[in-house]
Amino acid sequence: MNNRFVLGIDVGGTNFRIGLVEQNGKLYNFTIESSSILTQSDNPFQSFKNYIKNYLQTYLNGELMAISVGFPATVSKDKNKIYSAPNLAGFNNINISEHLEEEFQVPVFLDRDVNYLLMYDMIVHNIHQKGVTVGFYIGTGFGNAIYINGEFLSGKNGVAGELGHIPVLHSKELCGCGNVGCIEIYASGKALYRIWELNFKDTEIDEIFMKYKDSPVLKDFIDAISIPIATEINILDPDNIIIGGGVVNMKGFPIDYFEECIFQHVRKPYPALNLKYIYSLNNKEAGVIGAAYYAFARIQKI
Ligand SMILES: [Zn+2]
Repeated sequence: MNNRFVLGIDVGGTNFRIGLVEQNGKLYNFTIESSSILTQSDNPFQSFKNYIKNYLQTYLNGELMAISVGFPATVSKDKNKIYSAPNLAGFNNINISEHLEEEFQVPVFLDRDVNYLLMYDMIVHNIHQKGVTVGFYIGTGFGNAIYINGEFLSGKNGVAGELGHIPVLHSKELCGCGNVGCIEIYASGKALYRIWELNFKDTEIDEIFMKYKDSPVLKDFIDAISIPIATEINILDPDNIIIGGGVVNMKGFPIDYFEECIFQHVRKPYPALNLKYIYSLNNKEAGVIGAAYYAFARIQKI
């Protein structure tokens, strides 16, 4: 019998990652490319399609079951198009799923990248699909995914879980999303980069927690990322809390102080007295494998 694969693609603002994945999660021909080969072309979506075509011609050795793509973006309720991807030009408002289905004649799944990261973490950590699981991924931006009783929370328009864009009182700073005063301005890798530029430029950015974790600016930063997390915990009282992303995985990241900050902001006695965190390892392949897990689960329901 032919091997069966899902093509998983994890498109980020800087790089995109692609690989063929079997149902058991085994990954083949994993490749990382610069996203600039898409965004700097005259027609980013056409370049994306061509890239997929060449990739499949080169590597596919078996049956293609589906294509599953994650974007750092808000995605429509019907999971066909991207509404807004501030860090990735040229993909907004195109019927991506429809065009790819037409071209490759397989089901195509399109969703927010954080949903696929959470899918991966739930499977790796053996988390039961019942109950409420939330994922917080602090990378360039502040990503959030919410999974309730077997489904991602999608919302009326498909854009639920934009926790990075809750407003901060009295803030006048402009966010990449176009609004003013979003918490992501203070609670993200972008914010940490700004702190580094202003205060610690004599040190490599990767080292700042090792050297300066007790400095007031970094303590404020840790408190800032704890606020949206505590907010969602107060609203949902989740069964499982997964925390990951490049910032949390930096050397010397002060986990104890971070958890102390969350504790301070959540309601007492509960959920405060019953908090447990699962930390997601910063696995480069997670978005690709998670996308494929999601597609295999969906194909079985069709
Ligand atoms: Zn915003």
